[in-house]
This record gives sequence, C-alpha cells and structure tokens, in this order.
Amino acid sequence: MNNFTYIRATSVNDATKRATTDQKAMFIAGGTNLVDRLKVFLDEPSQLIDISRLQMQRIEKINGGGLRIGALVSNTAMADHPDVRRDYPMLARAILSGASQQIRNMATVGGNLLQRTRCPYYYDTAFPCNKRQPGTGCPAATGINRIHAILGASDQCIAVHPSDMCVPLAALDAVVEVESPKGKRQIPFIDFHRLPGNTPQRDTNLEPGELITAIILPPVSFAKSGVYLKLRDRASYAFALISIAAAVDLTGDSIKDVRLAMGGVAHKPWRPKEAEKFLIGKPANAQTFQQAAEIALQGAKPLTQNGYKVDLAKRAIRRALTVSAKGGGVA
Ligand code: SF4
Repeated sequence: MNNFTYIRATSVNDATKRATTDQKAMFIAGGTNLVDRLKVFLDEPSQLIDISRLQMQRIEKINGGGLRIGALVSNTAMADHPDVRRDYPMLARAILSGASQQIRNMATVGGNLLQRTRCPYYYDTAFPCNKRQPGTGCPAATGINRIHAILGASDQCIAVHPSDMCVPLAALDAVVEVESPKGKRQIPFIDFHRLPGNTPQRDTNLEPGELITAIILPPVSFAKSGVYLKLRDRASYAFALISIAAAVDLTGDSIKDVRLAMGGVAHKPWRPKEAEKFLIGKPANAQTFQQAAEIALQGAKPLTQNGYKVDLAKRAIRRALTVSAKGGGVA
C-alpha cells in the first residue's frame, strides 16, 4: 500500500471539488473492494476522500412511484427495506446472494456499482493485464478463462462485471444520479458501465471528479413477480458464473411486457433487448422462453474454457422467465 492523505469530506461539493483538483484522489465509503486493491498496489491514490459520513443514507419514495436510494445506503439496508422487498424482490434477492453479511453491512450501493472485476490476473501483479496497465496484454485470453465473458468482450479484455445487484438494476431501467463541480446529471443504468473495447482500464462512464449520489428505481408494477437466479460454483460467498434477473407481465397467457438482464457474461450487466422484443405478445410457455434464450445468446463467443456458459445461460433464462410468469419467488 502506498502512502496517501486521508480527508473526511464535509459535503458532496467538498468531496467532488477535491477529486476534481487532484486526479489521483479516490473516494472511499465502505472500502470493501477498494481496500483489497490498495493492499496489492492496484490503486495508488494520492489521497482518499472519505465520503461515508455524507447525508446519502436514505431510501425515499418518489412522487408517482419508485424509490430514490442514497448512494451510501448499505447493501444490507437496501435488501432489508420493506419497499424494496415488496416491489423489487429480484433486487433484494440479488443483494443477499452476494458476499457475506459482514461485507453487505459495510458495502454501499454506490460502491457496488464501482467494484472491479474479479479476474484473477487483474489482482496478480506478477502477470500483465490491460485493465491494470493498458497495452501490456491479456493473459486470460490464452490462460484460465473459465469465468470470463462470452458477450461483448474485446481482444483487449475479456473480464466480467462481478456485481449481483447491478443485474436487476439493469433490468429495472434504474438511473444513476451523479454530481461534480460542473453540476448534476443522470445516467441510464445500462449506459453506466462500459464494454472493454480499446479502453479496458475504464469500467464506467463517470467523468473525473464525479460522485454517485443516488440510484433511482422507476416504478415497474410487474417487478413484484421478478426473480433473480444466480448460478455459481458453491452455494455462498462466490461470484456468479451466470445470473439472470427476469420479470414477466402477463395478460392472460400472453406476455404483455418483460425485463431481462444477465450477469457473469460480459464486462457490464447485459440486457438482451432483442430477446425482450421477441417475447412481447407471445404465449408464456416453454417454447417461447427457449426461443428467447436462443436469441439472447445469439452473439455469444465462448473462449477456450467457458463454452459451458452458453448453455447454462440459456437454461437459466428459461427457468427465470418460467418462475416469474408463475408469479415469482425463488427461481
Ligand atoms: Fe486483465 Fe481483462 Fe485480461 Fe483479466 S481479462 S487479464 S482484467 S485484461
């Protein structure tokens, strides 16, 4: 860990001004991923700006429906909130499927969006890594790539985004509120994270000095029947190999509306919009769900060790859609 200055921010304005003035400064709140990275020199900030005492810990109802979740709400508080559990159960389940209780108590909603890939080569500084140091190479491409991406990867990076929470947020069309000395702006959730392309070192579309202040959850009436299905190597404390957030709205037996997002497949939460379009107006049955799964995985490009993800994702989509169409619950 390098030497750095520690500063406790007194306001959002104070925090963002400091971060804008010093491009090597970093924000810290729960620190559940950042401190790990600091210890192995992945991040070497000049200063840590502690935002943990700023007033961003509230979950508020929005007029007209939906919720505004402050960026410093803990993962535990969000998953336990009665409105989240009732109206967005896929979100509560996704959060509770991740990490441990102790980590969820510390981790914040804003920080969850900013956690970095768990690609083992990224954390092992004995290896080169384009995400850590652009232009050095991607050893995962010809190495151990069982957990890596099957969609949206580039020859620069094949890492996947590790968050559970972000998958239902993508499905729900959440919005990220950010603030900097230039002002406030809102970023549609699906545009918040980036594909690796030629800049794998950048995970998000945040500009220098911008701070996440809240997440907006729009009202989605049928999200009450939404499900989150996470498939992983062991039952707890493991990242998703494949995860699916799905919510189906029915009129009789016909699909009126649907939301679908995938985790563990790409550098960002993946929203297969073509599969959603296909589903609307179709009968809610096994054949329809199978066809939607095929469409969702049409562009998949498996690597040497992760071909299993293609079939696993299709089966997970089928199951998540089936459970949601029956009213939701545990998939
Ligand atoms: Fe680095 Fe990305 Fe390659 Fe992993 S997949 S080694 S993070 S460049």
